[in-house]
Amino acid sequence: MKKLTTKFFALALVIGLASCTKNDDPVFTTQVNMTASLAAINQAVIGLPTEPLDDAEKARILFIREEEKLAYDVYQTMFDIYGVNVFQNIPNSELSHMEAMLTIIKKYNLTDPMKTNARGVYANPVLQSLYKQLVSQGRVSLLAAYQVGATIEDLDISDLNSSLAVTNNQDVRLVYDFLNKGSRNHMRSFYKNIKNWNGTYTLVYITQAEFDAIVNSAMEKF
Ligand code: ZN
Ligand code: ZN
Repeated sequence: MKKLTTKFFALALVIGLASCTKNDDPVFTTQVNMTASLAAINQAVIGLPTEPLDDAEKARILFIREEEKLAYDVYQTMFDIYGVNVFQNIPNSELSHMEAMLTIIKKYNLTDPMKTNARGVYANPVLQSLYKQLVSQGRVSLLAAYQVGATIEDLDISDLNSSLAVTNNQDVRLVYDFLNKGSRNHMRSFYKNIKNWNGTYTLVYITQAEFDAIVNSAMEKF
């Protein structure tokens, strides 16, 4: 985790410096808000009571931590291939989601399933094969890469909703809500790019009603 943490804080520093001169740039403003919101989330988590977690809740926490890494890794690979902004901005947000999950893991003395920062390497075999599958789909074209982005957010929203359904711990719910809001915004971004390329998106995990409610509403502020 050391390398990623260092990278994240280096990023926060760069953003902090950049914001001094570029605070009218919407991309920089978004990143500054995101960094500030992660700090606020972490502080809120630490301030909330530590309540018991059963095995199902623990399993969900560890799974979501690695699922956020899947998003981060796939988007980084897509950025290496296509070099478009959306695949540079969104992974920064995924990194803040991974960090927020780590705050929960540490607070509850769980064992972080992320043994390595290496891209495309997971303890969970389902995520391991998803990485390979999604990257090979995304290599086909930039439109396919945007569709892969939508699929990842579709999966994340569905899994976050199932995770919310099994936990009543206020701190864990706060973090899941933070991730879910990010995912809804990412879905809006990817879907906008898909439409700009005259593409379509076939839902895999969430319902049409859930999807419509997301893409027909405005970006959410943190
Ligand atoms: Zn995320
Ligand atoms: Zn996302």
